[in-house]
Amino acid sequence: MKAVQVPEAGEEFEVIETDVPEPESEEVRVAVEACGICHSDVFVKEGQFPGIDHPRIPGHEVVGRVDAVGESVDT
Ligand SMILES: [Zn+2]
Repeated sequence: MKAVQVPEAGEEFEVIETDVPEPESEEVRVAVEACGICHSDVFVKEGQFPGIDHPRIPGHEVVGRVDAVGESVDT
């Protein structure tokens, strides 16, 4: 899949190809169709949240559809 990541704190975004993750037991996987960027993502990009590791794929304000569920998820 294609993703946009921050390679290191303070560096520019870069487009990468990465494996599609499989959901863990109590997770769902969302096929993202659109993603917003908010000011929290600026803090992530600039490395201003403590305990954040890079490279990191920011973006938590997504629209998409659930395309896989973990084995403990009730459907
Ligand atoms: Zn946000």
